[in-house]
Amino acid sequence: MNYKKISKQALGFFPTPIVELSNLSKVLGGPKIWMKRDDNTGLALGGNKTRKLEYILGDALACGADTIITAGAAQSNHCRQTAAAAASLQLECHLVLGGEKPDIVNGNLMLDMLFGCHIHWAGVNRKGDDIPQIMEQLKQSGKKPYVVPYGGSNELGALAFVEALKELEIQFQAIDEPVTHIVFASSSGGTQAGLMLGKKMLGASYQIVGINIDKGEIANVSFDQHILSLANSTAKFMGVKHAFSKQDLILNSDYVGEGYGVFGDLEHEAISLTAQTEGILLDPVYTGRAMGGLFDMIRSGKINKKDSVLFWHTGGVPALFAYPNIVTASKC
Ligand SMILES: *Cc1c(COP(=O)(O)O)cnc(C)c1O
Repeated sequence: MNYKKISKQALGFFPTPIVELSNLSKVLGGPKIWMKRDDNTGLALGGNKTRKLEYILGDALACGADTIITAGAAQSNHCRQTAAAAASLQLECHLVLGGEKPDIVNGNLMLDMLFGCHIHWAGVNRKGDDIPQIMEQLKQSGKKPYVVPYGGSNELGALAFVEALKELEIQFQAIDEPVTHIVFASSSGGTQAGLMLGKKMLGASYQIVGINIDKGEIANVSFDQHILSLANSTAKFMGVKHAFSKQDLILNSDYVGEGYGVFGDLEHEAISLTAQTEGILLDPVYTGRAMGGLFDMIRSGKINKKDSVLFWHTGGVPALFAYPNIVTASKC
């Protein structure tokens, strides 16, 4: 694949807005907090996967694919956005979802079904181990399937976040507000690898701080290694001569709690306080956890009043409707 010949397929509305969260900042007694609203990318309730899919599905179309296949958890935002994008492009869509078919269909899963995709329940294999076998069956039935990687995190997905950082840089210039930290939820690594590479290419000085939301590994490599090798292969792909090493990576794993998707006090406080101070929704799996991590870094002084933070809202809001206990756990 040649970087210069990439065919991008428009799927969302860009640039997404940036907003200042002054009420939240006041309540926390903390630094200025900005938010990049990728929950408003416009594709089926939004999220960071829209950016990645513009490049990945652009490639799928250029390859002549007629069928898309990807994997994720039952409440995967990536799968929901892929299903919506496939519908808009009139491509057949197969989702390989972890677990068993639940009794109650809600949140992202309900939307997957609304978009008319085919769902394969994969038990413990929520990261796509069953894809090759389903690919084979699709090929035998005469289809031209194209695999969108787990979380949309390959070089094309990471490239989308190099471009996203350029988009943000233009917005920062317009408001003339230097930020010291960019904080976001990190899970399959494409967002972080792209932001790291974008920072390098722009010569920026802010810290790119990923909040790890998942205890697991990806394809048997540690998450740190996975992000670094994706940042390096994306640099190579884009013709940038730079080798990332461990010191370039800030991945905070202090907030994984009981593991992927297990809702706790940290997420509860972050979601309710952001809702009640700013009228903005976070999600229970990713942005709620990352915002909870940001609260803790502010309270513990790792990020202080003189800093200025941009929280990258990566979406995920439909999963709120799969966690009704968020409200029953609330004190108000
Ligand atoms: C996928 C996802 C992330 C993580 O992005 P990666 O590029 O996979 O690390 C964060 N937040 C939400 C809401 C997501 O759906």
